[in-house]
Amino acid sequence: MDHITGLTCLICGATHGPDEVEYVCPEHGNEGILDVGYDYDLIGSRISTQSLADNRDLSIWRYRPLLPVEPEAPVPPLAIGWTPLYPAPGPAADLGLAHLWIKDDSRMPTASFKDRASAIAVVRAAAQGAEVITTASTGNAAAALAGICASVGRKNVIFVPDSAPRAKIAQLLVYNATVVLVRGSYDAAFELCLEAAKAYGWYNRNTGYNPYMSEGKKTAAFEICEQLGWQAPDAVVVSVGDGCIIGGLHKGFRDLLALGWIDRMPRLLGVQAHGSAFLYQAWRDNEDVLGKGPVGTTTIADSISAGLPRDRLKAMAAVRESGGAFIRVDDDEILAAIPRMAKCTGVFGEPAGAAAWAGLERAADDGLIARDERIVVVNTGSGLKDIDATMQAVQTAGVRPFHINADMDIVRQIFSAS
Ligand SMILES: *Cc1c(COP(=O)(O)O)cnc(C)c1O
Ligand SMILES: [Zn+2]
Repeated sequence: MDHITGLTCLICGATHGPDEVEYVCPEHGNEGILDVGYDYDLIGSRISTQSLADNRDLSIWRYRPLLPVEPEAPVPPLAIGWTPLYPAPGPAADLGLAHLWIKDDSRMPTASFKDRASAIAVVRAAAQGAEVITTASTGNAAAALAGICASVGRKNVIFVPDSAPRAKIAQLLVYNATVVLVRGSYDAAFELCLEAAKAYGWYNRNTGYNPYMSEGKKTAAFEICEQLGWQAPDAVVVSVGDGCIIGGLHKGFRDLLALGWIDRMPRLLGVQAHGSAFLYQAWRDNEDVLGKGPVGTTTIADSISAGLPRDRLKAMAAVRESGGAFIRVDDDEILAAIPRMAKCTGVFGEPAGAAAWAGLERAADDGLIARDERIVVVNTGSGLKDIDATMQAVQTAGVRPFHINADMDIVRQIFSAS
């Protein structure tokens, strides 16, 4: 992988060769998150906006020269990436905006943004000859890993909190992952998974630990810019749990700036749930994210419930360096945003996906985004992942079906009464 120059610790700044370290900075242990560095001159000689225009591979692999995989490495057969970016002029007008798009990652093979990262893990694990891949997850990273492993016949061991939504657990089981349901939080599952990975030598996909997961997630930034004709948006709104997605988006935009394919960094607006708002608090109070202790994890948006966000260094850098902001929304706003986003865009998000929509509404209200700006909001996961939350949301919103006997007279009553 001659295009990777090294892995730099976000704490001490030391750079290690890609073959010298596997996951974290040897000096700083589990906190020592690494950033992957590239030789952009070399990459620029291998890929261009023009070569992309001629490339008919509509998946994340169209950006292979920018990814931490070998040029010839086999990739999974599932269609990962190149999700739609829908213009949303109607809702834009309602929000007082002129230009709004929704990037719909519920369209991924396992129905969440996490496929972008798990795909990289599966390719790298295979290149190393690892037989088993493991991850802890609130549900979606696990479903993504299990599904992509199923597509290539690789074993995987998953640690999830036993409180994960049933649909996500069903995905794991149907893909035939080895599933360990942990009585406890995601944070507890994470620690357990790290220990087990070390004990058994499993390839470790954990978010905010494996430095290559951000590299998969950055492909969404590439797609957004390419889908907009290489005009970066002014702001991107996305929900934040561990912080890997927002850090990955930041990395993707930085790559494109380094290549000269876009001319400015979009402001990154990270949306957190009130009941699990570590990064929002740290940003608001200017706290050191390494010194700050864990916060609560009481939110209906399970995918962004993270007491101690594992990728907090990258997430904070993404918001600070892009001139963005963290936004906090409560569970009522998140629930209300599920049907509100669905009915005006046709895009159905799980609570963490709709949280971005709630954050968008907040940002418009609070003047964090301006009328003439070009805004992208990301739906990170499908609403079908959490039907209980959706039913709660539509009931609260007063949306109800007519429930009748099979009788045309009653149908007439319904449609002529009003
Ligand atoms: C994982 C996830 C997020 C948050 O991503 P982080 O990298 O943990 O910040 C948001 N929405 C959905 C649906 C997710 O699965
Ligand atoms: Zn270090």
